[in-house]
Amino acid sequence: MFQAADFDRDRLADELHRLAPSEVLVGEMAATAESAPLLDLLRESLGGLTVTARPDWTFDPLSARASLQSHFNVGTFAGFGFDDAQPCLAAAGALVVYLQETLKASLQHLGRLRPYLPERVLFLDEVTRRGLELIRTQRDGNREGSLLGVMDRSTTSMGARLLLEWLLSPLVDRAAIAARLEAVAELLDDHGRRGDIRSLLAEAFDLQRLMARVSTGRASPRDLGSVKNTLTLLPALRLRLEGQRSALLGDLERRLDACPDLRELLERALVESPPLSSREGGIFRDGYDADLDELRSIASGGKEWLASFQADEIRRTGIPSLKVGYNDNFGYYIEITNAHQAKVPSNYTRRQTLTNRERYVTPELSSWAEKVLSAESRLVQRELELFNALRERVASHTSRLLVTAESVATLDALAGLAELACERGYCRPTIVGEPVLDLVEGRHPVLEQMLPSGTFVPNSMKLGGADGRFHLITGPNMGGKSVYLRQTALLTLMAQMGSFVPARSATIGIVDRIFTRIGASDDLGRSQSTFMVEMTEAANILNNATDRSLVILDEIGRGTSTYDGVSLAWGITEYLHDRVKCRTLFATHYHELAELETRLVSLHNFHARVHEGPEGIVFLHRIAQGSAEKSFGIHVAERAGVPAAVLDRARAVLAELEAQHLQMETRTTAQLSRPKLVQPSLFASSEDPILSALRELDTIALSGEQAIALIQRWQREIG
Ligand code: ADP
Repeated sequence: MFQAADFDRDRLADELHRLAPSEVLVGEMAATAESAPLLDLLRESLGGLTVTARPDWTFDPLSARASLQSHFNVGTFAGFGFDDAQPCLAAAGALVVYLQETLKASLQHLGRLRPYLPERVLFLDEVTRRGLELIRTQRDGNREGSLLGVMDRSTTSMGARLLLEWLLSPLVDRAAIAARLEAVAELLDDHGRRGDIRSLLAEAFDLQRLMARVSTGRASPRDLGSVKNTLTLLPALRLRLEGQRSALLGDLERRLDACPDLRELLERALVESPPLSSREGGIFRDGYDADLDELRSIASGGKEWLASFQADEIRRTGIPSLKVGYNDNFGYYIEITNAHQAKVPSNYTRRQTLTNRERYVTPELSSWAEKVLSAESRLVQRELELFNALRERVASHTSRLLVTAESVATLDALAGLAELACERGYCRPTIVGEPVLDLVEGRHPVLEQMLPSGTFVPNSMKLGGADGRFHLITGPNMGGKSVYLRQTALLTLMAQMGSFVPARSATIGIVDRIFTRIGASDDLGRSQSTFMVEMTEAANILNNATDRSLVILDEIGRGTSTYDGVSLAWGITEYLHDRVKCRTLFATHYHELAELETRLVSLHNFHARVHEGPEGIVFLHRIAQGSAEKSFGIHVAERAGVPAAVLDRARAVLAELEAQHLQMETRTTAQLSRPKLVQPSLFASSEDPILSALRELDTIALSGEQAIALIQRWQREIG
C-alpha cells in the first residue's frame, strides 16, 4: 500500500509511532537541523529505525512531483484524491526516486498512490495505544497479554498484519463498521463454512511478501512454487464464499481472482517442490520446454551410456575391476589397478597415477564427456533463462495478485474475528450515531482470559444522554476502577474495528478519538517528571478532544500536593464537562470531587464496591452508583504487609485529619457554592456581572469615595 499525507509535527510523531516504520527518508538539511530532535526521539523509542538522509534536491517539489508523475504516468494527482500542491507529493516522489535507485528494479508492486485519510479512522495517539496495551504490554513489552495477542486468530501473516492495522486504525464510518460486523456475523453462524475457510487459509503463503519479491526480481523458484500452491487453494476458497448475504463477503468473492491462467502456467512449468536456488536447475517439469527436454535427455542419457561403456570395456580388456569414474580436475576417466596394468589396451592414454592404480581416458570417452558436460551446463543456463522469463510473467500480474492477496487477508481477518467471537462468547454490538455507550455485563477482553474461568466480574454501564456523559468513579485502590475504565475503551475500539465484543449486549455510539491518561507512565527514560508527563497528557486531551471523543482518565494530579491535585482535577473535570462535552470516565481517589455531581448536570458519581466483613475488606470489583464513602487505603496497606505499628499510627493521624477536613469542607463548600465570586463552573460562557464591572472600571476617573462605595455595593451583592 502506497499512501501519502501531510501532517504537522506533533501528529507526525504520533503517526510514526503508529506505523513503526523500519526506515525513514529525510532531506539532508532536515536531518541536521530542525527535525533532528524529533528523529532522535523516534530512534530512541522505535528501536531499529533507520533514518536515511537523502540529497535535498530529491525533495524539490517540482522535480519530485515530476518523478512521481512519470512513475504513474499521470499529469495530475487530483484523480488520486490529492491536491497537486500538497507537499506530501514531493515526499512520495522522493521515495520513488530512492526506490528506483536502491532496488534497481521494477516498482510495479507499489500500486496506486492513495491519500492516507486519518480522519476516516478512529485516531489513537501513542499514549493511548501504550496505555491500553493494544499491541504490547507496558510491563514487559510482550505481545502476549496485549489486546492484539488476545484478538489475533488469523491463520495467515497477511491476515495478522491486516488485523493489526484494523486495531490501530478502527473505523468511524457507521456503514463500514456495519459491513464488517455483518460479515463476521455470517462467518460466526456458519461453523462448517468458517472451518473450511480457515483450514484452506492455513495452507496459503504470504502472497504480499511473495509478490514484493517477485516484482523486485528477488523471488526464488521455491517462491514461485508458493505462489502456485496458494493460487491452487483459491477456487475452493471462492466456492466457500458463494451465496453469502453479507455485502462485504460478496465483494471479497468478486475481488478474489483465482488467476486460473497463471496457475495453469505455473503448474505446467514448475516441479512439485522447486529448489531454493535458480542456479542449479531442477526447476522445471519435463514437457514444459522442448530445448530443455533435449538437453536433459543428453545429460541423463549419460548414465546409461556410461554403464554400457564400462561393461564393454571390461569385456574388451578382460579386467573385471575396471571402473569408470569422474572427478572435477580430470573429468571422466577409466581406472585400472596396478595388478592389471599389462592388459591396458593401446588406445588408453594415462592421465593420473595413484598409489596402486592408474587412470586413463580414451578418445571415445573424451568426446562423449565433452558432449555431456556442455549439455549439463547448457541445461542449467536454459533453466535460469526460463526461470527469469517465468518470474517476469508472474510479475506482470502483480496488481491482480495484490488485489487477490488483499481479499485473502480481509477474509482471514474476518474469519479470525468470527472464531474469536465464537470461542469467547462475544456479542454483536449495535453501532449508533448518538454519543452514548450502553454496555450490559461488559468484560475486559484480556483480563477475562487471564483469570480462572468464571472469576471475572462483568460490569454494566450507561454513558451519555440521561445517564450522564461524565462518570466520576471513586473507590479504594485495587477496587477494579482501572479495569473498568480500560474495558470500556477496549470494547469501544473493538466494536469500531468491526469485531464482536465481550459483553451480553452493547450499544456503541461512534467515537472519533479515544484518549487515555492512565497511571504513571513508564517514561522513566525521558527526562520529564511523572507529574509533567501527566499534565502533558492532560493538556493534549483538553486541547484535542471533541464532543464525539471518549476520554478515560485514571487518576489526575497524583504527582503533586493534594491541594494542587484536587484543584487541577476539579478544573479539568469542569472543562471537559462544560466545554468539550465528551464522554468521560474519570477514576480518582479525590473524594472531594464527588461534590461536583450537584453542580454539573451531566456528571454522575459511581464507585467500586467493597464488602467490609469481620475478616476485613473484600473487593467486589463491581461498579455501582454513588460515590465511595471511604478510601480503605489503610486496609490495602495492611494486606500488603505494612507493620501493625505503622497502621495504628496512620489510623490515628487519619482520624485527626478527617476531623479537620470536615470543618474545612463545610467552609470550602459554603464558599464554593456561593453564587457570585466563584461560579459553579468557571467555563460558563456569561461572566459574573461584578467581574465585568470590575474589568470595565476606569480607575483613573474614580475618586476614593466612589471606590469605597463600589466595594461596599459589591460586598452586599455577594452577601
Ligand atoms: P484500581 O484501579 O481500583 O486500583 P484495578 O482495576 O487495577 O483497581 O484492579 C485491581 C485488581 O483487581 C486487578 O489487577 C484484577 O486482578 C482485579 N480485578 C479488577 N476488576 C476485576 C473484575 N471485574 N473481575 C475480577 N477481578 C478484577
